[in-house]
Amino acid sequence: MIYNETLSLLKSAVSARYPETAPKAFVRTFGCQANVADSERLKGMLFEAGFEFCDYPEDADLALFNTCAVREHAEDRVFGNVGAMKPVKEKNRGMIIALCGCMLQQEHIADKIRQSYPFVDLVFGTFAIPRFPSLLYTVLMSGKRVFDTDLENPNPCEGLPIYRERRFKAWLPIMYGCDNFCSYCVVPYVRGRERSREKSAVIEEAKKLIHDGALDITLLGQNVNSYGKNLSEKIGFPELIRELNALDGNFLIRFMTSHPKDCGEELFTAMRDSEKAAKHLHLPFQSGNNRVLNAMNRGYTREDYLRLIYAARQIMPDISVTSDVIVGFPGESYEEFRDTLKLIEEAEFTSLFTFIYSKRRGTAAEKLPDPVPHTEKAGWMEELLRLQEGIAAKRTAGSINKVYKVLAEEKAAKGGYLTGRTEGNVNILFGGGEELIGTFRNIRVKNAENWILYGDIVTENHT
Ligand code: SAH
Ligand code: SF4
Repeated sequence: MIYNETLSLLKSAVSARYPETAPKAFVRTFGCQANVADSERLKGMLFEAGFEFCDYPEDADLALFNTCAVREHAEDRVFGNVGAMKPVKEKNRGMIIALCGCMLQQEHIADKIRQSYPFVDLVFGTFAIPRFPSLLYTVLMSGKRVFDTDLENPNPCEGLPIYRERRFKAWLPIMYGCDNFCSYCVVPYVRGRERSREKSAVIEEAKKLIHDGALDITLLGQNVNSYGKNLSEKIGFPELIRELNALDGNFLIRFMTSHPKDCGEELFTAMRDSEKAAKHLHLPFQSGNNRVLNAMNRGYTREDYLRLIYAARQIMPDISVTSDVIVGFPGESYEEFRDTLKLIEEAEFTSLFTFIYSKRRGTAAEKLPDPVPHTEKAGWMEELLRLQEGIAAKRTAGSINKVYKVLAEEKAAKGGYLTGRTEGNVNILFGGGEELIGTFRNIRVKNAENWILYGDIVTENHT
């Protein structure tokens, strides 16, 4: 393992540099759960090297920002956060500032940091994660800036230590990268080609997570339905769910993200047959118009999509379906956007992640004419949100008096309440003390407000 070779060197460099007390690291993660999972590995390496963690960058000896490139807004937030570090570093010259992840895997961004952010000491892309100890060692020993945006290491996170904030909630990457090249999306460029992890590695990691107390495990991949395609062993995603379900323990299996073009009834029957699989399907549709879907290179039609969710609901009548949608893809007309609204009406999603199209450097859609002004797209988005609000309100009202098995995850902002999620991924608040955090409870829903459910505990501890 690459990190092992340099970890002991790094450890001694760290203790020489900070002889009195353990140095503090601040790690902020932007973007999706794949980044959260990467940050758990980065923190794992920092922890093994002797770092402790702090909540504010001002208190840190090392501040690490794990970035997201999927939309311009995400990139702007990162630049805002990094810019705010300049005065912090002026006060504390010995501090190390590091940037990593998807944004830095893009050459123009790494160049911008090189030229305009001279106080940033270390820059590395998604492929360099296992090289982090050696990169940090070089920074500590040389005091020079280090950049590593090489596209080496097919399985970036295999075998790395993991530092998890909460033992009962776990992210489990089952594959890396993406081969789909949706015309708007930067992910295939910054995360590389699709690589599934060996089934044995996934099962071993799951067993370890369960042994360490994980109760809610989310399998991660950009397109989990194509799991196994590059493996010599014949295994698909439905079979993987069945095998994970067969492991001993009282835990819930979630997964994201499913791609409609590779999704089928086999998955739904595997979910139905697996009592540990959450009855939740996150199935992004992106657009309800066939011309737009084709221009997005999504590989399915609106009819295919609707057929899939009808099939899922036939096999699992209680399934909760959520989705992602993009408004204002280049060249989309209002008429075409109305097909998206119609699909939302037909599909009746539990909830939606909604995005206004954001132009990404190097993607196919970057070159398409995009005549509709942003303000007009924002108006379309308002219309879409109003529609979905009504649908979600109706669906949550339908949950009243139902009982859900819920993992108590944390204290709510509202005093005396805890938060959790239903199997269908709807937030639920219920009365209870902190000692219940990390246990399953049966919760009866008593009312619903703004897509949040409120309920009461109805039975004794479930675990
Ligand atoms: N692999 C997942 C999604 C990863 S990105 C899938 O295919 O479903 C998460 C979401 O961000 C996408 O589903 C899409 O809705 C949105 N997204 C990606 N690129 C975007 C862009 N350039 N502009 C706006 N939204 C985008
Ligand atoms: Fe991006 Fe499409 Fe791959 Fe999802 S499937 S990560 S949207 S290219």
